[in-house]
Amino acid sequence: MGRRTRLWNMFAALVAGGAGAAVFAQAPDSPPARFSKPALTGCHTVQGSVHFDFEGASRSTCYVEDERTISIMVVPEHLPPINPSPWYAFRYKAAEGAKLTVNVRYLGVRHRYAPKWYGRGDPASLSVAVAKDGGGIAITLPPGEGVVSGQPLVTSAHYAKLQEQLLQAGNGSTTLLGHSHDGRPVEAVHLGNADAPRLVILLGRQHPPEVTGATAMDAFSLTIAKLVRSGAIDRNRYQFLIVPLLNPDGVARGHWRANLGGVDLNRDWGAFTQPETRAVVDWIRRRPAGVRPVLMLDFHSTNRNLFYVQGDEASPQGKTFLEAWLNGKETAFNGYPFEIEPRDANPGSGTTKNWFHATYGIPAFTYEAGDNTDPAAIRNAAEALATTMIPALDSSLRGAPGQ
Ligand SMILES: [Zn+2]
Repeated sequence: MGRRTRLWNMFAALVAGGAGAAVFAQAPDSPPARFSKPALTGCHTVQGSVHFDFEGASRSTCYVEDERTISIMVVPEHLPPINPSPWYAFRYKAAEGAKLTVNVRYLGVRHRYAPKWYGRGDPASLSVAVAKDGGGIAITLPPGEGVVSGQPLVTSAHYAKLQEQLLQAGNGSTTLLGHSHDGRPVEAVHLGNADAPRLVILLGRQHPPEVTGATAMDAFSLTIAKLVRSGAIDRNRYQFLIVPLLNPDGVARGHWRANLGGVDLNRDWGAFTQPETRAVVDWIRRRPAGVRPVLMLDFHSTNRNLFYVQGDEASPQGKTFLEAWLNGKETAFNGYPFEIEPRDANPGSGTTKNWFHATYGIPAFTYEAGDNTDPAAIRNAAEALATTMIPALDSSLRGAPGQ
């Protein structure tokens, strides 16, 4: 740990947040040298500067308004954006003696993520104002330096660590599924025996800013790994493909929705025009005869805790599984009330959920954690739901192979 990192951590521990912002304690990672870096370097005056030169930084343009005011424009990777989730992340420096104001403006969409700040300086002088029309925010920052982002930065270093934890906890193996446009690995952790007949697929981070979904997936998959290792889940009957970071380019490059091909990966299932989605489906299609997907969960974030599930179109097995796993549990978890929303499969839309259901006739759910749900509550609920998932699957698959 270098001197710089120690400083970051110390100041992060000193500040307690304020003015609608939250504080987090993780220093931004530098992009690995072998991958392309953001081309935009930022804006500066004598009094202050903003930069977009780290992993997860947004692809924003900036301009100087005056010595102490810099504006940044947040634009989607493709138009029109499917939902308003403008992502911003920048590093700043402000000279002693006065504050720096950064105006964050969104092209054509409304504000979603309250800024998360960590840095050096007096946290009491941090303030955030959301424009009346929701078209942007003004963040006034104390003298010093720091990082501001729409959600905590959860980038490749996090996933390297998670992968290690999953391998240790579950006695599994790493599987290289393919590569992204930028050459980043699309990796999975595989748990259970390769010829176990029932395959459960867990996917995450198709949409880069949705880090509360990642919190849920981390806890969920670590719990599964421990259950496999302890024998509570029978590795001869169940195997798991866990892909926590399906859009590594989008996360590294600070996209708000798409991969580097400019495609929303959660609309590419069926067409499989993108290397990331193809990597997953190719692996599934190469499974030995007798191995079959039985459940797919795709982790995301939205404005509340929610499961998108099959409705009337669900198979009898899918209905039994939903009944056993989620129905009646909507208020069972402290701090994590959730809704269950059946969405009729629309074969044209290319969502992961719809493709898995249409192709395999299995339950395929979108697991949405709320943008602002407490992380501890997200983890507790995810651990509990991971623990009850296999018993619920067992009850729905009675008489099927692997019983
Ligand atoms: Zn999403």
